Amino acid sequence: MKYLTEYRNPELAKKVLHEIERTITKSWNIMEVCGGQTHSLVKNGILSVLPKKITMLHGPGCPVCVTPLNLIDKAIYLAEKDNVILCSFGDMLRVPGSKKNLLEAKAQGADVRILYSPLEAVTLAKQNTDKEVVFFAVGFETTAPANALSVLHAEKLGLTNYSILTSHVLVPPAITALMEDPESHIDAFLAAGHVCSIMGYWEYFPLVEKYKIPIVVTGFEPLDLLQGILMVVKQLEEGRTEVENQYVRMVKEKGNTTAQKIISDVFEVGDQMWRGIGTIGKSGFHLRRKYARFDADKKFSIHIEMANENEACIAGNIMKGISKPFDCSQFGKKCTPQNPLGAPMVSSEGACVAYYNFSTIFKTMDL
Ligand code: SF4
Repeated sequence: MKYLTEYRNPELAKKVLHEIERTITKSWNIMEVCGGQTHSLVKNGILSVLPKKITMLHGPGCPVCVTPLNLIDKAIYLAEKDNVILCSFGDMLRVPGSKKNLLEAKAQGADVRILYSPLEAVTLAKQNTDKEVVFFAVGFETTAPANALSVLHAEKLGLTNYSILTSHVLVPPAITALMEDPESHIDAFLAAGHVCSIMGYWEYFPLVEKYKIPIVVTGFEPLDLLQGILMVVKQLEEGRTEVENQYVRMVKEKGNTTAQKIISDVFEVGDQMWRGIGTIGKSGFHLRRKYARFDADKKFSIHIEMANENEACIAGNIMKGISKPFDCSQFGKKCTPQNPLGAPMVSSEGACVAYYNFSTIFKTMDL
């Protein structure tokens, strides 16, 4: 297949679906790691046509959802400083902090700008040398190269008024944490194709070996997901546990080594707090000491008290695959995309907003 439309072809999708139905004999819990995959599964109606023996669990791969509450409060604190321009991807603006979100701060006069690339923030810093420009650098391994490049670019330009506030999380340690969780009942993973396009999939071999779980690197189109599910189901039914790559058109085992080199030049791996989940060892990228002057957290010596999460929000359990959005007592009542109580009801990769926006498809399912 060459064109995107072919990955959405209903006739081909039916054939793969029939093969899944022919192959499956037992019940299996399969987690798609990435929130983009969750949205594709929901909006394309795949959840409603899969055999009932398959339960899809929605993983922690929504970067906006796992950005710590304290870091959002720090971003708001910076945005409200007189001489700061706070730049962010659009999704982050409506994620609730402990008292307000960035959009409310902007409405109250803070200089918050929505950008599509961290390099735009560097340009902004070059144009506004009398201001401090801070980029709220949030994401998985996928966005790390661009954020690292922005630091290298700012250094090359000799800018002293550019910094990044980072929350960079990594997939393999999250899989380890999920498998070590006693409440976990995951039988297999669909790994996030875009993360693997950067990092490759060599990091998954030890996980498959240790936890005896199939991991299939999978893309985001309907046929990608159905094929990934078929590959996982075949492994489970045959008692195999291997790393396989469905997303061959994008992913190589070793990934993009140029991008990896840029990441490792700028970032080092360290412990990282995941909102709703807690701290996971060696699960984040942090700026190396040689680039500490670009670290907004250090540059502004920010100290913000840790606030408590909204107790009604069960986002952590949803991202661990223990609960579904419909299990939350606030879903569609006090928590809606217009008035979100938790990040998964905001982000374009959040499971709760996917269920909310496409809830009509669930009417055909026994939930
Ligand atoms: S529906 Fe809202 S309150 Fe419930 S888990 Fe999702 S984001 Fe949190």
